[in-house]
Amino acid sequence: MMFRIGDELYHVAHGILMAKQDRRIDTSHTDVLPTSEWKRTFRRRLIGWYRRHAREMPWRETRDPYRVWVSEIMLQQTQVATVVPYFERFIAAFPDIPALAAAREDEVLRLWEGLGYYRRARQMHKAAGVMVEKHDGRFPRDANSAGQLPGVGRYTLGAILSIAFDARQPILEANTVRLLSRLLAFDGDPTRADAQRLLWAMAEALLPRREAGRFNQALMELGSQICLPRGPRCEDCPAMTLCPTRAAGRQEEIPRTKKKPPPEEVREAAVVVRRRGKVLLLRRDNAGRWAGLWDFPRFELSSQRADAVQRELVEKVRQMTGFSVQPEAKLTTIKHSVTRFRITLECHEARYLRQDVEPQNRPEMRWLLPEELEAFPLSVSGRKLGCLLVEGIGSGAPVSGSAKRSSAKT
Ligand code: SF4
Repeated sequence: MMFRIGDELYHVAHGILMAKQDRRIDTSHTDVLPTSEWKRTFRRRLIGWYRRHAREMPWRETRDPYRVWVSEIMLQQTQVATVVPYFERFIAAFPDIPALAAAREDEVLRLWEGLGYYRRARQMHKAAGVMVEKHDGRFPRDANSAGQLPGVGRYTLGAILSIAFDARQPILEANTVRLLSRLLAFDGDPTRADAQRLLWAMAEALLPRREAGRFNQALMELGSQICLPRGPRCEDCPAMTLCPTRAAGRQEEIPRTKKKPPPEEVREAAVVVRRRGKVLLLRRDNAGRWAGLWDFPRFELSSQRADAVQRELVEKVRQMTGFSVQPEAKLTTIKHSVTRFRITLECHEARYLRQDVEPQNRPEMRWLLPEELEAFPLSVSGRKLGCLLVEGIGSGAPVSGSAKRSSAKT
């Protein structure tokens, strides 16, 4: 494999790695990746550090592939502290793969509610079905079969097979991209395909012959606890004297990061359609941010004036549901953020009048008492509105002020 590393002299401290200016680098050659001596020293120090500093986590008490799998999927894009209670509830509800496969998708999503990136939960549910059908209800040991499961990409595959079965499989995720970039003093864009090949080659080269799972976990722990994005704790790092980035004082430049796009303001409306004490909920289709979750009719709002907003509510509810409605009070405003979108959600109330037309793609719909919403998976903002309905907002009850902007999870 060939990589173009960039213009700068690529010099790794302590004579470990050397590469000349603007040259093509062949990662199959030992002059790019660490020497055997460097690797031995690094592994020994890393494992020693991990023994002393590994945090306790419920999924680390076992090597059960199912638990490792659940934890790895939940940990994608999500902090450990957030995941722990979700993991415990999930395992209590679905203790093994057949139990997960037998669950309804709504039950799975309800337990995932608030964790965000709901596609992960739906894919896990599908993968559990595949394992029951084709693998006797077990997580397959061979990389080929495991790699074909829904939602199991290269990182997840490496993590599960190494941790659960001690397979010699590398891993690369956000924390290890940063750590390995610094250990290689790689100052190019780590998201580029050639850089990714280099980093995967490094992750593979570092793997010990045995206990690859423990080694991979130690790498991730070091990346998340010590080799921090800003202000890495080099003085506490077992690789301090091995690290060329630290030697060059370039920790704040490596890895190169892209500027985040500025947040985008979005204005949306959610409509609580009421009929004989019940409210209307519909299931979101299989695409988009909240695929598979239940929701109030919700859409982007373009009108500004109150009368125009009312006309827009009537028209859009009609398009979505086929129902004719009469707008009533504005209930509240919920501010929340989803990735880079800062959403202002205006929550309105409307009275059901009649079935007007049959919409083209009619969603699955339910009329529910507010207390019955509890059983259905909703987005975080949908749940907030649902809780306000249970408390009696609307229908003559006093309208509360704006709810606070919620966290980035959806
Ligand atoms: S010495 Fe500093 S920059 Fe280098 S790997 Fe350790 S924490 Fe990261």
